[in-house]
Amino acid sequence: MNKTILLAAALSILTSNLFVSCGKQKKQYIYNKGEIFGTYYSIIYAQREHIDLHQNIRQKMQEFDNSLSTFNRQSVISRINAGGDSVPVDSYFEKMFLTALRISRRTYGAFDITVAPLVNAWGFGFGNRERADIPNVDSLKRFTGYEKVRLENRMLLKENKYIMLDASAIAKGYASDVVAALLEENGCTDYMVEIGGEVACKGVNPQGRKWRIGIDVPKDDAAAQNREIQTVVNISNMSLATSGNYRQFYYLNGKKYSHTIDPRTAYPVQHNLLSVTVIAPTCMEADAYATAFMVLGVDSALKICESIEGMDCYLIYTDNRGENRVKYTPEFEKYFFND
Ligand code: ADP
Ligand code: MG
Repeated sequence: MNKTILLAAALSILTSNLFVSCGKQKKQYIYNKGEIFGTYYSIIYAQREHIDLHQNIRQKMQEFDNSLSTFNRQSVISRINAGGDSVPVDSYFEKMFLTALRISRRTYGAFDITVAPLVNAWGFGFGNRERADIPNVDSLKRFTGYEKVRLENRMLLKENKYIMLDASAIAKGYASDVVAALLEENGCTDYMVEIGGEVACKGVNPQGRKWRIGIDVPKDDAAAQNREIQTVVNISNMSLATSGNYRQFYYLNGKKYSHTIDPRTAYPVQHNLLSVTVIAPTCMEADAYATAFMVLGVDSALKICESIEGMDCYLIYTDNRGENRVKYTPEFEKYFFND
């Protein structure tokens, strides 16, 4: 789901190709949009030869889907989940898996792609969506834990055939990086790629400024119809991802359950953090850390984020009087200005 309103993209929506003056040369921005991985994407880029790359982008996305989508039954990840205890993997899977493992270790297990059985049990996964009561998740903990899976000779080995993987918290960010790389291979130096709210960008927008990205006010809004902007950030050559508890959730007996699971308790996270926005050099990392920080909570998230070179975060939480508050890493402040 789109969690950010992309002002730059919104400005260009009226026309698919924009001409802007840039010195003596005219730059043409091309705008592509569509649906993938159960969400929407919008991509805007300047290309010297003015070639529309949408077909190539779609093809790349399809290749990616064939590796990491749990909604595609033939994908590598679906074949792993279908029970095989040693399934050959491709390079998309390999890179995602090694990055996920590194982030699991770095976040003390807050990020964990083996949460799939828990995500399904709580009704947020590729299994059953409805929930009439609290599931019994204790027994499922036998089948979760990132130490129970490993890669050997490009085969994924599982300690138990019931272990399943869910790359939803990292794949959209990774796909944004993959599309960005494709644009660069085609000579684009000014672009913004946004897939389901995860953004990778470079260079400048059609106004010749850094890309301006809105962070939503977190409010229960499953259909994303009543958006309000909390703040706008300005980025270039960086990626941004947001995770929150305000789009994917349900209430059961008056209590809110949202789609971020704490793998250590097996329960959806229950604390005062409403949304996390991470800015990082790659969108794959921004995406995964945004989810991990949702699990870790305000203090721990800030502490870990500050210890990672080049990464900053912006957290929106409720205080004990129920008022929304924000905290961010000191370096995040530079993103409020478009210099
Ligand atoms: P969004 O899908 O809104 O971009 P996230 O990037 O935070 O949000 O991904 C949330 C999804 O990731 C959940 O729907 C679930 O499939 C999966 N997930 C939930 N908890 C975790 C976790 N602790 N570690 C890794 N993946 C998770
Ligand atoms: Mg994520």
